[in-house]
Amino acid sequence: MKTIVIHEAKDLRIEEREEVAPGPGEVQIKIATGGICGSDLHYFNHGGFGPVRLREPMILGHEVAGHITTLGDGVSGLSLGQLVAVSPSRPCGTCRFCSEGRHNQCLNMRFYGSAMPFPHIQGAFREVLVADATQCAPADGLTTGEAAMAEPLAVCLHATRRAGTMMGKSVLVTGCGPIGILCILAARRAGADRIVATDLSPFTLKMAETAGADQVLNMAEDPAGLERFAADKGTFDVLYECSGAAPALTAGISAMRPGGTIIQLGLGGDMSLPMMAITAKELALKGSFRFHEEFFTAVSLMRKGLIDVKPFITQTFPLEDAVAAFEIAGDRGQAVKAQIAFG
Ligand SMILES: [Zn+2]
Ligand SMILES: [Zn+2]
Repeated sequence: MKTIVIHEAKDLRIEEREEVAPGPGEVQIKIATGGICGSDLHYFNHGGFGPVRLREPMILGHEVAGHITTLGDGVSGLSLGQLVAVSPSRPCGTCRFCSEGRHNQCLNMRFYGSAMPFPHIQGAFREVLVADATQCAPADGLTTGEAAMAEPLAVCLHATRRAGTMMGKSVLVTGCGPIGILCILAARRAGADRIVATDLSPFTLKMAETAGADQVLNMAEDPAGLERFAADKGTFDVLYECSGAAPALTAGISAMRPGGTIIQLGLGGDMSLPMMAITAKELALKGSFRFHEEFFTAVSLMRKGLIDVKPFITQTFPLEDAVAAFEIAGDRGQAVKAQIAFG
């Protein structure tokens, strides 16, 4: 089978790997579609992010969906030919954080396509994947592309859960890549009233409007655009910080109202913060990292038509054009989510 392997920054290759048969409790899946994520792009552009560096070739990818081709012994509830979204979250189930129900903090996590541990965890950009049946969310009725959006949507549902009550809230989203866009959809679905989104790219802000933002601000054209929301101690109850950029977070904090909650999703490295404002406005600053059970909620909400991700799948490339796909996926002038069709 063909796989997409990153060797080092800018060295992406399509390579053959051996197929394996599914064991008990596992299924074999013919992968149909894979979405390119920010983390995949970090490996492609920079060979890693922060302290996480590639130290050996690694199959990329963790946003995949496909059709079941073989059922291992003891698998029930799934059928041959069925479309499934495959959760890349593979916690051990027994460490102290798994025992507490915080599976995304698992000490032995084997998240697809991650160079955090060594040996690296090989990813899911491959023609054939063997996965645990418990990772598979039936996605009947969705396109393969929509099903492959379950992973980033789950990230945003987890963040929304971390943010607390959303009903009637004023929400600011800074950074409208795929995660920012899906946070707009998730916040709206959870009952947010006013949603304002910022970015530097006109194309991306147009997409934020399509996602339902009430107002968008281009911070490149109007760097002080959030100042009008800072009057009288601020406007927003919730900030989804999806850019990982210090200026976005700093401007966002100035527009937060007392008692508001900042959810940090963007991974842009360490930064200095306006601690005076965080303290005096009694803001809560919370990180949000990956997801676990939200993956199945994401698929369910899409299947019910309660969240529509289709407009944000902006490109689909055949497997042989994987390098071009990676080059365009990060271009905020034309891409929200670029995907690869495996066949
Ligand atoms: Zn992802
Ligand atoms: Zn664990």
